[in-house]
Amino acid sequence: MTQQSAGHLTGKVALVTGASSGIGAATALALAEQGAAVALVARRQDRLDTLAQQITAAGGQAEVIALDLADPAQAEVAVQRTLETLGGLDIVVNNAGLMLLGPVGGADVSDWQRMMDLNVLALMRLTHAALPSMKQQKGGHIVNISSVSGRGASPTSAGYSATKWAVGGFSEGLRQEVRLDNIRVTVIEPGVVATELTDHITHEATKTTYESRIATMTPLEAEDIAAAVVYAVTQPLRVNVNEILIRPLDQG
Ligand code: NDP
Repeated sequence: MTQQSAGHLTGKVALVTGASSGIGAATALALAEQGAAVALVARRQDRLDTLAQQITAAGGQAEVIALDLADPAQAEVAVQRTLETLGGLDIVVNNAGLMLLGPVGGADVSDWQRMMDLNVLALMRLTHAALPSMKQQKGGHIVNISSVSGRGASPTSAGYSATKWAVGGFSEGLRQEVRLDNIRVTVIEPGVVATELTDHITHEATKTTYESRIATMTPLEAEDIAAAVVYAVTQPLRVNVNEILIRPLDQG
């Protein structure tokens, strides 16, 4: 039996944010395939319901928690509902995010606010809300989805990169702190993945340029990132996979 054979996460509970599309949906499915009960968090209830039906039809367990993580109170609500309905919380995948690319000069600064609220503060609040039960059970795993933009930056990525660098800094401090409670922390840094992420870019010229760039390459699939999450959370307890940087072969 390999590390990642089906059932490796049987008895575990995972909460995945941004589970209504892209990387989050693929990750929730992959964790459920490994036997985890999954709490599906995002705003679009219809998408979450469809995913939950897919998971339960395959014999898994899923709980839909439709809420807006930009609201500071909702991270705690998501965790409490997971604990109440699924009976525990072992894995948090902080994945919900926005990539509102554009130049700093002339930027709509409300884009920065939206990204900070979701990419950074919601991730921090959800982690904060999850820690008491993880500390009590002396174990858990926080997986934070950052980006290659959390390791570097380029013109039009400054605002987005600022949020993802924040994820890196928060995760590294957290890792050193919570390892004493047997809680593991993993940062995943994807390159270009084919998802709905670019749809929300408000700066039209940047959106067009970015989409043209993606059209020249074979991007990663959401399932490629889900596989990286499964790898990290199915390692033996002595192994703390701190960071996974994963780019399409085509991406320079
Ligand atoms: P998607 O746009 O497909 O997914 C984003 C998810 O976040 C959706 O499920 C969305 O659900 C959710 N979300 C957005 N706003 C909120 C909110 N206010 N409250 C709760 N949930 C919210 O994009 P990806 O799957 O690509 O993105 C997932 C993560 O991966 C992000 O953090 C992104 O930065 C990161 N990433 C993506 C890369 C890529 O190339 N695609 C590359 C590197 C990193 P809903 O709208 O239903 O609320």
